[in-house]
Amino acid sequence: MSSMDLDAFKAKATAFLDGVSTRRSVEDGPFVWGQGSDNVAIVEETDEESEAEMVGKAKGWAAAGYDAGFGWINGPVEFGGEGLPNEYATAYRALEQKYEVPDLSIFMINLGMVGPTVAVHARPEVKADVLPKLYRGDWVSCQLFSEPTAGSDLAAVSAKAVRDGDEWVVTGQKVWTSNAHLADVGEILCRTDPDAPKHAGITGFLVDMKAPGVEVRPLRQMTGGAAFNEVFFDEVRIPDTWRLGRSTRMGRCDDDPDE
Ligand SMILES: Cc1cc2nc3c(=O)[nH]c(=O)nc-3n(C[C@H](O)[C@H](O)[C@H](O)COP(=O)(O)OP(=O)(O)OC[C@H]3O[C@@H](n4cnc5c(N)ncnc54)[C@H](O)[C@@H]3O)c2cc1C
Repeated sequence: MSSMDLDAFKAKATAFLDGVSTRRSVEDGPFVWGQGSDNVAIVEETDEESEAEMVGKAKGWAAAGYDAGFGWINGPVEFGGEGLPNEYATAYRALEQKYEVPDLSIFMINLGMVGPTVAVHARPEVKADVLPKLYRGDWVSCQLFSEPTAGSDLAAVSAKAVRDGDEWVVTGQKVWTSNAHLADVGEILCRTDPDAPKHAGITGFLVDMKAPGVEVRPLRQMTGGAAFNEVFFDEVRIPDTWRLGRSTRMGRCDDDPDE
């Protein structure tokens, strides 16, 4: 779609949206204090069956949009994007809001955190493999940062990754991991150099959430739902190719993608 002008793009987007959805009958008006729902939940709390239905609908919507060229409008073509300027992506989002769209919140971490990090810090072959899966919604991702003793003080991370040949071996615990129970892949921060100053001894990786040694335990909230999890890693192996950016001294290698 790289040579299409904005009006032609909007017409194509409108035709696509007309084909897969219906226009919302009442558009949201301006926000007015005291009016509307009292629901302030950040994360929906639902039962397993409804959650599975929600995930199915979200994945279907994301795949249809991606296949029609509206999944990663402003992303680089070589990694599965459409290569269009940001204003095209903004125009599509504005159009999409006029239609009935499933709950897409499971992709918030794909699109807002893991995707952008991979796009900057992963090796080119990993970008080409992983980014289309994240932006098409084939994979759900989670972020594995917080630990029982590393919250606001994220630099206190203690889950460790130890280099073993072409792999890293991860052991430790994460907590408050939104969507871990649905995730195919996670972005994890691990301590790779216990001797470095604490802010400097940490390395990021992608991790296969279905790998042997990964255990996801739901945290039941007093409100009934279980959107957050504890995640335990017991000698989980990650290929070095899934490292994000440079590693710290202990595992540093010559093919660091940022160098
Ligand atoms: C909706 C939601 C979703 C989340 N999803 C994820 C997720 O997907 N992945 C993930 O890794 N984490 C997630 N988190 C966890 C979140 O990142 C942590 O809650 C955060 O890191 C804070 O850590 P903590 O809860 O251990 O609080 P603490 O760090 O223990 O802080 C407790 C209180 O002490 C205050 N405090 C801390 N240090 C200081 C200081 N030095 N001086 C003064 N005051 C201080 C804090 O402001 C806070 O009020 C999520 C949290 C929420 C609310």
